[in-house]
Amino acid sequence: MPQRQQCPFCQLLENPEQTFIVHETEKFRAWLDVNPRARGHTVVVPKEHVESYDELGEDFLEMFDVARIAGEKAKSGLGAEGYSIVFNDGEVAGQRISHVYMLVFPRFEGEENEGTPAGAVFRPEELEKSDLEEIHGKMEDASFEDFSKEVKTVYEKAKEGNNTDGERSQEEEKSSQENSNFDSSKRADFV
Ligand SMILES: [Zn+2]
Repeated sequence: MPQRQQCPFCQLLENPEQTFIVHETEKFRAWLDVNPRARGHTVVVPKEHVESYDELGEDFLEMFDVARIAGEKAKSGLGAEGYSIVFNDGEVAGQRISHVYMLVFPRFEGEENEGTPAGAVFRPEELEKSDLEEIHGKMEDASFEDFSKEVKTVYEKAKEGNNTDGERSQEEEKSSQENSNFDSSKRADFV
């Protein structure tokens, strides 16, 4: 795994003039991929050198939202009809840089891949019910990093609107308004 000094994303983060920034928050930046595989293909990265999604903790939510915003901007700015958000955890999954990132692929009508889901790289498998039962048994109670407590706290904070630290506070208030009809416990399940 490359160190921070050799990390291409960290280098680009330090030289923003080398990137076409689409959106930015305190902790994340989204810019156009220089080797795009779609019009408006965007990469979202944390400004800190973070090597795994687990290390992001509750910030994962903010990262996901920055990706969503990039997709929405492709819809309103480029006329995309939709978008796919992809992230790959681990080299085996295709993570090519050890600084976590999400990819946003705007989707357009009339393109060759129209209607093909991003997960289409996986071929259907023939499985018996007993296979699914075995897999389920191994996954259902398997361990994982649980950030749900912190996530809930973030939404409770936003609802209370009692943050006082400038830009961040405005963002959270906005987020609170946007999510005022949203059940935060369901949101945590969704993530
Ligand atoms: Zn880095």
